[in-house]
Amino acid sequence: MDPPLITPPIDLHDYRARAREWLSEQDIPEVSGRFGEDLPALRAWQRTLYDGGWMGISWPREAGGQGLSLAHQAVFSEEMARFRAPAPPGQPGLEVVGPTVIRFGSEEQRRRILPPLLTGEELWSLGMSEPNAGSDLAAVRTRARPDGDGFVLNGQKIWTTYAQHCDGCLALCRTNPDVPKHDGLSFFLVWLDTSGITIRPIVDLTGDNEFCELFFDDVRVSQDALLGQLNDGWTQARESLGMERGPIVIRQYAHLAAAFAELLDELDTSACRESDLVEIGRVQVMLHALQAQKARTLRRLQMDVGATVEDSGDKLLTAHTDQAIFSLAMRLLAHNRTVADGVTGGLRASRWRNAYFYSRAGSIYAGTDQVQRDLIARRKLKLPRAA
Ligand SMILES: Cc1cc2nc3c(=O)[nH]c(=O)nc-3n(C[C@H](O)[C@H](O)[C@H](O)COP(=O)(O)OP(=O)(O)OC[C@H]3O[C@@H](n4cnc5c(N)ncnc54)[C@H](O)[C@@H]3O)c2cc1C
Repeated sequence: MDPPLITPPIDLHDYRARAREWLSEQDIPEVSGRFGEDLPALRAWQRTLYDGGWMGISWPREAGGQGLSLAHQAVFSEEMARFRAPAPPGQPGLEVVGPTVIRFGSEEQRRRILPPLLTGEELWSLGMSEPNAGSDLAAVRTRARPDGDGFVLNGQKIWTTYAQHCDGCLALCRTNPDVPKHDGLSFFLVWLDTSGITIRPIVDLTGDNEFCELFFDDVRVSQDALLGQLNDGWTQARESLGMERGPIVIRQYAHLAAAFAELLDELDTSACRESDLVEIGRVQVMLHALQAQKARTLRRLQMDVGATVEDSGDKLLTAHTDQAIFSLAMRLLAHNRTVADGVTGGLRASRWRNAYFYSRAGSIYAGTDQVQRDLIARRKLKLPRAA
C-alpha cells in the first residue's frame, strides 16, 4: 500500500497539529536503548510511520517521499521526541545515504536503494571515517581500483554506525592516488554481504556496540556500485556532511527538554545542595538559549537555504547543552547519599550514567567541536588562518 500524501502547501502549525493527533493515536513502542534488541520493534515502528505518511517527509515525491520541506521534517521529529517515540532505525541511512543517493544516484540506484530504506526493510550505513581520516576526511585511504568492468576495494573503515545490522554501506574510497587528495575520491554503494568484507563491532563506554570496524579485502563491486561521477566524492561528501548536521538542533532540543524535565521529576530536591540548585538554573538557561536557536533554525529551514555555517553553531550549542544536562545528572547522583536498588536521591543511576557517557559523543560525531569552531571562525567571522 502506498502511504497517504498531503497536498502542499501545508503550514507548519497545521502540520504539527496533524502530527500530534496521529502520534496520540499510535501504540508507541517502548525500547530498551539496546539497538540490537530493539531492532524488530523499531523496524515495525518504521513501517507504521511509513504507512502513516511520515517517512521521507522532505524527500521528493519521485523518490517515494512526501515532497515537503526540511522544516516539516524537523517539526515531525520534534513531535516524535515530545511523544518519546523512538526514531526509526538506521538514521545515517535515512538522513545521509538516502538524500545522497537522491542527489547523485542514477535512476537505477534510486529505484533499488530508496524504497526499502523508507519502509525499513533494508538499512544502510555510512562508511566515511578511517583510523587516519576523521576530521581530515579527504585523507581516506581505502582504495577502489578499476578492475575489468568494476572495482576492487581494499582498506578499513571505522566508527561505522550499526554496520553489523545493515544491508549496505555508502563507502568513500580513493579512486585516484596520483592527484591532490580532495580530487581522487569516489563513493560506492557496497552490499555488506559481498565476499571479502569483515565487520567487527566495537564495544563502547555504555557496553553497547553502536559502531563497527569494516575491513575490505579484495572486495569486488560492479560499475553500478559507483555513485555519480568518478572522483567526484569530495563534493558529494561535503553535501552529505551538511545533511547530517542540518536540522540537528530541532530534533535534539525536544529530546533534551524531555530529559531535563524527567531529571527534575525524578529528583528528590530536598536532598539538593544550594550549589546544585544554582547548577540546575544554569542548565535551564542553556536550554532556553537552545530553544531560541531552534526557532531561528526553523525559520532558516523554511527559507530552504541549504547547509550553512549556522549549522555549526547549532551543533556546538546542542552538544554543550546535552553535556551540561547529563553532567548535572552525574553531579546530582554524586551528591545524593540515599542509595537503594540502583536509585540514588530518586535518580535511576544506570539510565543517567549511560546518557552522560553518550553525551560525550555529541562533540565528535558529524564533525568535532574544534572543526565546527574552525568553520565559524573562517566562514562566519572571516578570521584569518593562523600562519
Ligand atoms: C557516536 C558516533 C557515531 C559515528 N558514526 C559514524 C558513521 O556512521 N560513519 C562514519 O564514517 N563515521 C562515524 N563517526 C566518526 C566521526 O565522524 C569521527 O569520529 C569524527 O569525524 C572525528 O574524527 P576522529 O575520531 O578520527 O578524530 P580526529 O579527527 O583524529 O580528531 C582528534 C582530535 O583532534 C582535533 N582536531 C582534528 N583536526 C583538527 C584541526 N584541523 N583543528 C583543530 N582540531 C583538530 C579534533 O577536534 C579532536 O578533538 C561516528 C562518531 C561517533 C562518536
